[in-house]
Amino acid sequence: MPECFDTLDTALAAVARDKEKKRLWTILTFQGSNTFYLFWSAANAGQIVAGILNEDLPASDASLPKVLPNKALPQLKRGGVDKGHPEYEQNEINRQTVSKTKALRASVADVLAQQWKVNTWTFTGHAEERMLLNFGALYTQFAVASGQIPTVIIYNSDSPCTVDDPRASSFLQPRSCSAKLTHLAKRYPFAQFTIYYYKAYHGGGSASSDGASSSSSSGSTAPNFISGDNIELLPFTPELRELCAQNNIK
Ligand SMILES: [Zn+2]
Repeated sequence: MPECFDTLDTALAAVARDKEKKRLWTILTFQGSNTFYLFWSAANAGQIVAGILNEDLPASDASLPKVLPNKALPQLKRGGVDKGHPEYEQNEINRQTVSKTKALRASVADVLAQQWKVNTWTFTGHAEERMLLNFGALYTQFAVASGQIPTVIIYNSDSPCTVDDPRASSFLQPRSCSAKLTHLAKRYPFAQFTIYYYKAYHGGGSASSDGASSSSSSGSTAPNFISGDNIELLPFTPELRELCAQNNIK
């Protein structure tokens, strides 16, 4: 289930507390509602594990260096281990390698265990995809409670990805979040959708601005791949940017 907040301000404060800095977010609300639903993007276990392995995890125990106890190392004449001896230094390097490997193995195991635990109710994907999985239920819930056709407001950390993006979302169909949101507005023709985005998406999912491969290299250009009579995509207003600034959102 998504995290819920009473105000946009508290939802943004939660965004700012995020420890996994690379996650993108989407906040869904309905006009007149006091509930703000926060959704995060989620890398899959494979991506997380690959990230850990990139830190040079040795392939197997057999490739790990041997660590000797101090008494098996060259000793000083007066007694005690000779810390100036190259064998001692090498042994210390080996000790660190083994210790780092164990820590890395533990984090890989942890990621897989977590993934296994959550796998029955969640899935990996872009923040919008996770929002879309919950949209129908939340929309209906508000419509029933308010007795009106909801006006949908979505606050995005990034403009929705497009089919041109190398990492366009593809867990749910159609491919790309722009296409999915266009499709969503068509499915709810009597509702009005407004999507605000904080930054222009550059396809990499990271905060770095390697806009070279992006179709719109300037962050201020609205990437307009969302279409429909009842849906519009807008950059954050000065008021929204101010709210982000107050909450220390980068
Ligand atoms: Zn996307």
